[in-house]
Amino acid sequence: MTDHIDSLVRGRDAFRIARLALAQMEESQVWPTPLNFELWLYAISDPEGPIGREIYRLVNSGQPLTDAFAEELAVEHLPRLRLTEEIRDAGDQLTRQLAAISSAISVAQISTNEYGRALEGASRELAQPTEPQQLRRVIETLSISTRRIQKENATLETRLASSAEEIKRLRTHLEQVRRDAMTDALTNLANRKAFDDELNRAFEVAHTTGKVLSVGILDIDHFKRFNDTWGHQTGDQVIRYVASLLGKASVHPRFAARYGGEEFAVLFPNEDARTVTAALDALRDDISCRSLKRRSTAEDLGVVTVSAGVATLRAGDTPQTLMERADKALYQSKNAGRNRTTNGETSLAA
Ligand code: C2E
Repeated sequence: MTDHIDSLVRGRDAFRIARLALAQMEESQVWPTPLNFELWLYAISDPEGPIGREIYRLVNSGQPLTDAFAEELAVEHLPRLRLTEEIRDAGDQLTRQLAAISSAISVAQISTNEYGRALEGASRELAQPTEPQQLRRVIETLSISTRRIQKENATLETRLASSAEEIKRLRTHLEQVRRDAMTDALTNLANRKAFDDELNRAFEVAHTTGKVLSVGILDIDHFKRFNDTWGHQTGDQVIRYVASLLGKASVHPRFAARYGGEEFAVLFPNEDARTVTAALDALRDDISCRSLKRRSTAEDLGVVTVSAGVATLRAGDTPQTLMERADKALYQSKNAGRNRTTNGETSLAA
């Protein structure tokens, strides 16, 4: 949905939609706060979606959109806020579990101290000549204390086991949230944040091991034309199409990501620029060998092509200069007529 909004507010109809949102907000006497405006854009782009239905239900019933309700809608339905909320929830649950564990441990500590004192008392009494009756009393006291501590230990064990279970569940949930935060929703590839993290990691590895590391940047040719001619939904499908073939070609340790709107980036650990150029040429052939159909009308969308640029880590590079060189190579491909790969390590301007 985010990508849908992204293409909507950068597409042909962007200003018309923005004006429409403001006009509807003014008519419904809703303040044009950034959050209200964002929600309204979602409502306009998808009136039947969860945000659209809620907003138009309010408008039609003449009720105001309060700040509190806008917040609620945002937390529930805006992807980025939902994520923040989930992380906050998981944090709260973890804090509760830790508090429960710490209180159970404190109780156990008190019981252990008491038990220690009971043992000390018994040992003091037993150090002196002891009557059988006195002996029985000491043993009884000891056995009561032992039973009590056994019971408390069992409670502590159960408490710890259930907390461990809950923490395991939270960890799995947080891993999922983290994966979501690193994944591009439209294509299911890694997103830019994940790519940047992985680039830094691969850079460190290459730096310490001296192994080769290459990167490729790809950009869909004439994407704006697709979007303008066929609409953003078809534009999104074109992005998904390229992403699906790129994903298939990027078997581990290769790492592919959606880098921007119609731009992709791939890390190629242990592969030099020549091999990567060949791999990207094969991928380009794969992408352009079929012609796509518009799903809604079955019209022929024609062939999709991509341009690519490749760079390999050199001494003195930073992750940023490496990416800049790949980007420069990509623009050489664009300037040379598109639908080609430029090896930034051999091209003149590199
Ligand atoms: P998607 O529409 O979500 O489709 C996912 C997968 O389901 C496709 O993966 C394909 O394996 C299968 N699939 C869906 N619809 C059809 C169909 O009408 N015919 C056939 N033969 N298979 C179908 P695939 O091919 O890797 O495509 C990935 C994504 O690329 C698709 O996601 C879609 O967004 C886009 N795409 C691929 N080909 C076309 C096309 O001809 N037209 C449009 N508009 N989009 C396409």
